[in-house]
Amino acid sequence: MLINRCAGCREPGFELCRRCQFALAASPPVVTASGVIAATEFVGLPKQLIIGLKFRNRRRIVSYLADQLNRRIDPTQIDVITWAPTSRRRANHRGYDQAELLARALAARWRKPCRRMLFRHHGPAQTGRNRADRLHGPSFASRPIRNPPRVLVIDDVVTTGTTLLAAREALLAAGARSVVLAAVAATPESLPQARPARISTASIAGEQSSSTTTPKMPSSSAAATFDATSSKKAHRRASASSLVSASS
Ligand SMILES: [Zn+2]
Repeated sequence: MLINRCAGCREPGFELCRRCQFALAASPPVVTASGVIAATEFVGLPKQLIIGLKFRNRRRIVSYLADQLNRRIDPTQIDVITWAPTSRRRANHRGYDQAELLARALAARWRKPCRRMLFRHHGPAQTGRNRADRLHGPSFASRPIRNPPRVLVIDDVVTTGTTLLAAREALLAAGARSVVLAAVAATPESLPQARPARISTASIAGEQSSSTTTPKMPSSSAAATFDATSSKKAHRRASASSLVSASS
């Protein structure tokens, strides 16, 4: 008989026990050097859960990870949700694309459309490319977009950020009005060097860290928007969106 165990602590019982659910909810959001909003850092419990989702077929964990994204991103700035597709070979091997599952779960919570908008270019195989090319990451194509929507692109983990930045480029070139990039978790290396490893939620919400003592949940401003037309450098330090554009 199959015993269900917590994907976090391996205790028999639920897919994710209450203690691990609380621990996940308590992990603070971060913004990477390339401007990607991440619901949490890719360490400890969140790391374990994402690895379980990717490699151990822990698909029910998607629901908990989507809840984390739901708490960190303001849906009012989003018209349509999509994802950075994994390579076809990996998705076939796994039987699913975890980024797609996350995007669809989030879209269901928001009652917003979720569409496949990005396609990987069928370039030469990674093994046949030189190191500089590989570091460049994948390139994407997007279907032409009518009625320019504000797009949210979801990925599971952000490391260098090249994948999501390539996705943004393709969507803007195809006519998206704005593109928000988000991931469930960001690796510590992806975070800005000058900043502490963990950005306080207050600074993400665009508040002066010296003037406030109570950490707040990030508000709508945590959803950093890349605009195709405007870049407001004057507000660099004022809000999360400028924190993102300053480093992009
Ligand atoms: Zn647990």
